[in-house]
Amino acid sequence: MPRRFSPFADLAAAAAAVGATRSKNAKRDLLAAYLRGLPAEELAAACAFFAGRPLVDPTAKLGMGWVQQAAALARASGADEEAIRAAYLRHSDFGDAAAELLAGAERRGGHLTVTEVAGTFDAIAAAGNGEDRIGLMADLFGRASPEDARFIGRVSSRETRIGLREGLLEEAVAEAFGRQLDAVRRAHMLTGEIGEAARLAREDRLAEAALHVMRPIRFMLATPVVDAAEVMRRVGDEAWIEDKYDGIRAQLHVDAGGIVRLFSRDLNDVTRSFPEITGAVAELPDLGPLVIDGELVPRREGTVLDFASLQTRLGRVRPSAELLAEVPVVLVAFDLLHHAGDDLIETPLRERRRRLEGLALPERSGERLLLAHLASARSADEVERHFDDARERRNEGLMIKDPDSAYQPGRRGLGWLKLKKALATLDCVVVGVEWGHGKRRDVLSDYTFAVRETDEHDARLLTIGKAYTGLTDAEIAEMTERFKGITLQDFGRYRTVVPEVVVEIAFDRIMRSARHRSGFAMRFPRIVRIRDDKTPADIDTMATVEALFGEQASGRILLATGSGGETERIAATGAAEDGERAG
Ligand code: AMP
Repeated sequence: MPRRFSPFADLAAAAAAVGATRSKNAKRDLLAAYLRGLPAEELAAACAFFAGRPLVDPTAKLGMGWVQQAAALARASGADEEAIRAAYLRHSDFGDAAAELLAGAERRGGHLTVTEVAGTFDAIAAAGNGEDRIGLMADLFGRASPEDARFIGRVSSRETRIGLREGLLEEAVAEAFGRQLDAVRRAHMLTGEIGEAARLAREDRLAEAALHVMRPIRFMLATPVVDAAEVMRRVGDEAWIEDKYDGIRAQLHVDAGGIVRLFSRDLNDVTRSFPEITGAVAELPDLGPLVIDGELVPRREGTVLDFASLQTRLGRVRPSAELLAEVPVVLVAFDLLHHAGDDLIETPLRERRRRLEGLALPERSGERLLLAHLASARSADEVERHFDDARERRNEGLMIKDPDSAYQPGRRGLGWLKLKKALATLDCVVVGVEWGHGKRRDVLSDYTFAVRETDEHDARLLTIGKAYTGLTDAEIAEMTERFKGITLQDFGRYRTVVPEVVVEIAFDRIMRSARHRSGFAMRFPRIVRIRDDKTPADIDTMATVEALFGEQASGRILLATGSGGETERIAATGAAEDGERAG
């Protein structure tokens, strides 16, 4: 009879071995060997863990922030809050802190299996309240060896730190079961779950991989460009141009029975927050199962409202009738990923758009579902004109897409480019906060923020700037409480915090500077908004910073040029202010 449960210690040891070598090939071989020897039942959970996710279901959330994780570790180890912060700071890693603090603690119960750890994570995700979650996690730590705890802590705080990119995990799966890498990649892309791809690989059924309606796949991302000239340089003859709407990204799923689900960019189910959308979809004639990618945009009587108004809708599980009337939302569809049994992500955009238009959504939904405005341009001047028109329609800028491109889940490729209003903003994560001055002296109003070194999920955070917020007093007060809860080190004026709050930063230009660890600083940075729709995994990387810097240096920066177009006008105003303030 084949073994069904394997020791979690083996998994932790494999993870440690993978982390100990820098060689990609060695990492892949170690992982492949481990995965090959694993019982079938545990393959999906192990793959999720190596990918840095505690749960197999990519839409499920553990529901534990720093505060609860630390409380669980405190309970299991007997260490107090201060000792836990100190250990975290020593290692900058929750797993290492857990291993250190549990080293002396007495271990309860027998040895953990992969199934037990996975089962506990599932139970935590399903638990009704924070206290239960802390209790379950504390029990798990209580049964773990220090080495188990290191990996459990890393996975539960979502930082595996073993230098493992998903691409490498795909390679390991292909090697473990002797399959083609391309087939594994494709299965992962379609199913959205590396564990399922691994199971299909093991059973030699990769060809059966398909998109699951009602399970979100990761969103395709765009690469920023600085101006219309760069757009034309990148696309050649003709650019396919859509308006860039300023709302929140959403994936709409409709199954064969007409059940509707909406998922946000971080794959959360946000269906109940947008009843006007689900209501409109329910009224459509039967179009068959659908997966649509689009943007939720606040729009009343044909006019797009400010993004700020949409913020009042975020996080509201059951919006009131007044709020629904005040800030109604539409879904602007720009992509069709599945229709009536056909997976379309490998189909060229041109064809996906044709099929999307064929659904006649605006007409059939009373304009609750719209289509992204589409145009084409053959010169930089034309791009500029479209940009101005998009701004006239109160949209943020333009998206430039390759009509022959496939939909690439989770990738920031060159298939999609984005051109925004001023000089591109950067999404950063707050790593430190400081008490303000004057009437702000009782609130944490100055934020220090960082970008990621690379796109890898264990990349280091490198500081790039500091700014005080443009938030309202009420919001600053609320954020102050939040930052107090996630403070790591309190130096009096300044505190370091757990990096989890994402902010979008606008600035006048980027400069080389030794002041911050990124080696860059921003001139006149300002916080545009808190991006609760993004996680630290979504923030910008050094590559983007370098690219923006390079564009400035090459003289193609919006600020420096002077002629025509909304982009230049906005930037020129910024430059004037810059001069004034600098002078
Ligand atoms: P950013 O959030 O600045 O990185 O810009 C990318 C985002 O623009 C996407 O994630 C979408 O939420 C949004 N967006 C707005 N309009 C479009 C469009 N027509 N096509 C694709 N993304 C769009």
